[in-house]
Amino acid sequence: MSSSALETPMMKQYLAIKARHPDAVLLYRMGDFYEMFLADAELAAPLLEIALTTRDKGKPDAVPMCGIPVHSADQYIKQLAGLGHRVAICEQVEDPREIGGRRLVKRDVVEVVTPGLVGDPEGLDGRQEVSLVALDPGGDGGTPALAVLDASTGDFRVTVPALDTPAAGGVDAGRLPELLLEEIERIAPRELLVPADRLQQSKQMFALRLPRCVLTAVAPASFDPTELPVEPEGFAELAAEGGQRPVAALLRYLGVNQPAALGHLPRVRRYELRDTVVLDAATRNHLELFENSEDRGRRGTLVELLDRTRCALGARRLARWIAYPLRRPSEIRLRQDAVAWLVARDRVRSLLREAIGEVRDLERILHKAARPTAVPRDLGALRDSLLALPDVGAALETAGDELFALSSQEPGVRPVSIVPPVALPELASLLVEALVDEPPVIARGSRGAGESGYIRAGFRPELDAIHESAQKGREWIAGLETSERLRSGIANLKVRYHPVHGYSLEVSKSQLAKVPADYERKQTLANVERFTTGALREVEGTVMGASERAAALERTIFEDLRQQVVASAGAIRDAAECVAGLDALASLAEVARREGWTRPEVDESDRTQIRSGRHPVVENSLRSRSGDGFVPNDTQLDSRGTRILLLTGPNMSGKSTYLRQVALITLMAQMGSFVPAESARIGAVDRIFTRVGASDRLSRGESTFMVEMRETAEILRLASRRSLIILDEIGRGTSTFDGLSIAWAVAEYLHDTPGLEARTLFATHYHELIAMAKQRRHIANAHFEVREWQDEVIFLRRLVDGGANRSYGIAVAKLAGLPSAVVTRARAILAELESGERQADAAGRSGRGSVDDAQLDLALSSAVREEASDGRAVLDELAALDPDRTSPIDALLAVQRWRARLKDGR
Ligand code: ADP
Repeated sequence: MSSSALETPMMKQYLAIKARHPDAVLLYRMGDFYEMFLADAELAAPLLEIALTTRDKGKPDAVPMCGIPVHSADQYIKQLAGLGHRVAICEQVEDPREIGGRRLVKRDVVEVVTPGLVGDPEGLDGRQEVSLVALDPGGDGGTPALAVLDASTGDFRVTVPALDTPAAGGVDAGRLPELLLEEIERIAPRELLVPADRLQQSKQMFALRLPRCVLTAVAPASFDPTELPVEPEGFAELAAEGGQRPVAALLRYLGVNQPAALGHLPRVRRYELRDTVVLDAATRNHLELFENSEDRGRRGTLVELLDRTRCALGARRLARWIAYPLRRPSEIRLRQDAVAWLVARDRVRSLLREAIGEVRDLERILHKAARPTAVPRDLGALRDSLLALPDVGAALETAGDELFALSSQEPGVRPVSIVPPVALPELASLLVEALVDEPPVIARGSRGAGESGYIRAGFRPELDAIHESAQKGREWIAGLETSERLRSGIANLKVRYHPVHGYSLEVSKSQLAKVPADYERKQTLANVERFTTGALREVEGTVMGASERAAALERTIFEDLRQQVVASAGAIRDAAECVAGLDALASLAEVARREGWTRPEVDESDRTQIRSGRHPVVENSLRSRSGDGFVPNDTQLDSRGTRILLLTGPNMSGKSTYLRQVALITLMAQMGSFVPAESARIGAVDRIFTRVGASDRLSRGESTFMVEMRETAEILRLASRRSLIILDEIGRGTSTFDGLSIAWAVAEYLHDTPGLEARTLFATHYHELIAMAKQRRHIANAHFEVREWQDEVIFLRRLVDGGANRSYGIAVAKLAGLPSAVVTRARAILAELESGERQADAAGRSGRGSVDDAQLDLALSSAVREEASDGRAVLDELAALDPDRTSPIDALLAVQRWRARLKDGR
């Protein structure tokens, strides 16, 4: 490309601005369009599916360009940001009419939209947060910390994990503590800010954990907490405990990209990971808290079942409660008190939820209204929500303010009263007086360009006067035709209006002789002449100028109102906080009442006692189908008694469902919810771990078995006496004997390691593990009852003591529709295998029948308890042995040999 096309004044201006934002797609405002040029155009056109053209078409050095209309720009901007791009919005910063084309209009970037800093929150899913995280990796004696900002709601928090606990996962040199990584994963930010010198390392670290997050490098110096342009409320308090550094980085990033947001900074608060239950990604996925495992959608998830909130504020709060269940029984009980109060009062609850339904997304409306691009409709939405607040308070009149103030908050947040702050009724009435009932939708593009009519009559006499004189003028003009016809005697005189030439008195050529002396000629056409008069010119001036003057005045009034809103930001956020909490509590109460759940007792013990527990989601889905309902089951775990429950039994008998049911009941209890059980006593847990063998995680690019083992390793390293562990078929991803040995050794480790002592549910298809209960006092066996009837299996879904004695694999295969020929053949093969085993048994031992008994006896041989490697050698040999070709005496000798070997291994 030759340089000439780039040397026009406009392109020079463009290139200068672009040079300041090299990493962003620059939207360059030209009239009613945002244009993109050069590489930006080539990148964006296919992504946005818009036409790529060229400037100065036809010339050899034409510049590639594409454009989007300003009025629909937001949707395109979101699209680009959603694809991980940054978008710099460059506006005309002076009025082109004032310059009158004498020179180029000044332009500047007013906002950069990034994946984690959306501009206009309109159209975002109200149930989800949009998080931007700054990560300070620590080092040089500093502690790692992270800050999270949802700029669309003003939620701003920071955490410095305590690294002295075993649960923190230690700090390896150069590696971040596991707890911090898990927390970032839980937040699932859209964008993560890391110091530039740690970018490569961070990319590797987060590639698998945060596949959908954009990593942005920022200058390491931007973490410096001194000399910030502005400090948010709560910032100074962070100095003592750490956490200022990532906040500083976030603020600087915000200042560069969305400077207007610095004008209404939300307060920042510190939160402690040890206040809440740690839930890692594997656990969240396995328990299907927010996404189902089928299509990552919301159907069949816990959040779908629990969320009966009436506004976006409450929906986000409830999601937060699910993601961060509480750790301390005292705080849990407080939330339960409030839920119980609402469960017991159907009428109050329904009034309350009705009132909350009138409150719109206050946090995001505030964010939108506080932006310079706010439109009258935003303030209208704010006004309507503020007006709904007194009804929310009124619905709860009879309840103690404190109950709700305390219970609806997250730990570490100062309680907010349910009585709306004083500033708000004032702001509400101001907005009522100032705005018309339904402020018109004014698109971003036409903002300020002569739009008016949204300020209510009577609010500003000056504005009324403008409207009134314009009205009078219009009336005078309307009567002009009649009065001038009378005065001049010209019967066909007409008053005309032309958008360029304005008003005129039109007289046909034949009547020109009658034209009064004060008429001034304005325009001559073929058959008519047009005139004006001094009086008409004056009135016309008033009428034509009125709409412009009114629009300008309305804009000033609107700007004043917007400033008042910004000034009340704190009070508005308090109100939003309060509604969010109440909505979430009412939602929990509503679902508890509808589902007939009970209030669990949560204490400091290490016990879990559930009577007739159910899986909330499975129960719900079974109810909508015909057939038998959900079969409730009990749970008894106690770190000093039976703390490991080993579940054996066939596939499809209900093991996984039961495991998840116990985890979900525990989680629900700790978030303050009622639970699906006849009764429940839950000793509060610090973490819930769940691991599933052979779950399909290939999409993350790791071998399933590798993932499974890494996750298992994590549990053994991080679990404590206070944890709940759910292990479902671990070891399944490898060969039988490998898998069995691993499962066995893991169970032993869990049982024997002092301080670990976690409550554990262990489901396995390795019946061999049943033997462990005989030697280890804290392990008990259980299985789901299955009946056989005329070659069919019937699952009773009832949990009973003891290990399962058969796996019913063939019966399940038959149920699944395997061709009958295959099923029959499989039965025959099984019978052969079993009879072979029996012969070996009969010859070698007391002849106690079944396959499982043989395995059990093997397992009981004392040495297997010891190092897995010893046991493993024996097991490998056993695997290699073919019963069909082994004589009874050889089998007996083999047993003797193994026994000796295991003893030696001691
Ligand atoms: P497993 O883990 O033993 O293979 P699952 O837990 O996957 O078995 O359960 C198999 C099926 O049985 C599921 O479709 C589930 O809906 C149903 N189910 C499980 N537990 C119960 C129960 N307690 N009552 C009724 N149906 C159940």
